[in-house]
Amino acid sequence: MNNYTKIILKSGKEKSIQRFHPWVFSGAIEAVTKELNNGDIVEVYDSKKQYLATGHYQDEGSIAVRIFSFEKREINEDFWKEKLQKAIYLRETIGLLGSQNTNALRLIHGEGDGIPGLIIDYYNGNTVIQFHAYGMFLLKDTFVKLLIELLGNSLKTVYDKSGNTLSGNYEHANEFLYQNTNSEIIVKEFDNQYYIDIIEGQKTGFFIDQRDNRKLLELFCKNKKVLNVFSYTGGFSVSALKGGANMVHSVDSSQKAIDLTNKNIELNFGQTEKHQAFAVDAFDFIDKMDEDYDVVVLDPPAFAKQLHLKEKGLKGYRNINQKVIQKMKKGSILFTFSCSQAISKDDFRTMIFSASALAGKELKILHQLSQGADHPINIYHPESEYLKGLVLYID
Ligand code: SAH
Repeated sequence: MNNYTKIILKSGKEKSIQRFHPWVFSGAIEAVTKELNNGDIVEVYDSKKQYLATGHYQDEGSIAVRIFSFEKREINEDFWKEKLQKAIYLRETIGLLGSQNTNALRLIHGEGDGIPGLIIDYYNGNTVIQFHAYGMFLLKDTFVKLLIELLGNSLKTVYDKSGNTLSGNYEHANEFLYQNTNSEIIVKEFDNQYYIDIIEGQKTGFFIDQRDNRKLLELFCKNKKVLNVFSYTGGFSVSALKGGANMVHSVDSSQKAIDLTNKNIELNFGQTEKHQAFAVDAFDFIDKMDEDYDVVVLDPPAFAKQLHLKEKGLKGYRNINQKVIQKMKKGSILFTFSCSQAISKDDFRTMIFSASALAGKELKILHQLSQGADHPINIYHPESEYLKGLVLYID
C-alpha cells in the first residue's frame, strides 16, 4: 500500500467531505505529515485522525485538494480505468456513445464524473483533453493509454488542449498525444453536421452542453425570424434553420467563429439566403437592433467565472437581458442562458425577474434548461450545474 501524505483538517471542517463534496479549501487544513508538492496524491483525515477521502493536492488557488475517492484505496492504473469505464458506461446508457445520429459528446465531466480537474470531449473519435488540475496532468500518459484501450478502434486522436486551463507557472503547449490529424473534423448532433476546429476553436472546439437546448429550439422556429446572439460557430442557427426558420441572423464578435458558422450553414443547407452572419460586438448589435425577431437566443460567455465576480456578472446579465426583452414584441420567444458556475439557477431566475420588471414586460417561463446528460451534475457538488437557461414567452 502506498504511503500517501496525510492532510489533517481543522476540527469541524470535515462536514462537507462527509457529505461527499469534492473540494477541500486551504483554510480548512490544520497540518500535513510531509512537505507537499503540487499534484501530489494526498489522504485527508479529520481532526481525530479518521480517514475521510483521497485526492490531488494543488498549491495554487483556494481549492487545496480535489477529491476523487471517498474510500481508502491504492490509486493506480486500475483505479483510473474503473473511473473511465464508469463514465463511458454512462454515455452508452444515455444513448450517446455509439449513437447513429450524434457523435459529439463529453466523455469525462470533472466533478460530475468523480474525476475533478479532468475534461475529455469526444468529436467523432477525436478526443480533446483539458487538465484543470496539475495532479490530473501528471497522469496524462495513463489517460492516453486507457483511452486507447477502452475506446478501441473508434479512437482516432487524442489532443491535449490544456495550454490555458492549467493555472500557475507551467509552460504548457497544446499537442497531440496520440496520432495527429490535419483533416477537418465533422461531427453529427441529431443529424445536424458541424465542423469542429479543436486546435483554433474556443474551449475544446464546440459547446456540446447545449445539444438538447438546440434541439428544443427547432420546435419554435417554423416560418420564424430568428436571432442568435453570441452564436459561436452557429450551433443554434443550424437548429433554427432545421426547424424551418425563414430568416436567421447570427452575431458573434469572433470573425473565426462567424467564418465557421457560414461553413456550417452551407454544410447543412447549401447556399441559402435565409441566413446572415455578423462579426460584430453583440452589445452594439442589440443597441441598434430594429428587426422584430420572433425568436431570440442569448448565450453570452461566462460573465462570472469566479465567485467574487458574481454580483458584477449578474449585473451584466441583467443589462443585456433587459435590453433584449425591451425590444422583443408580444408573442415572441427568448432562449436565454448563463454558463457561469458562480451563478445559481435561483440567482439566474431572480436576475431575469429584475430584467423583465425593468423592461416593463410580462413574461412566462416555458422551459427551464440545463446542460446535457453527458455533463452530469454531481448531487453533492451543486457547482457542477453550471449551465442554466430559460425559455421565455413575452406576453
Ligand atoms: N451559443 C454558442 C456558444 C456561445 S459561447 C453555441 O451553441 O455554440 C459565447 C460566444 O460569445 C463566443 O463565441 C464568443 O466569441 C462570443 N462573444 C464574447 N464576447 C462577445 C461580444 N462582446 N460580442 C459578440 N460576441 C461575443
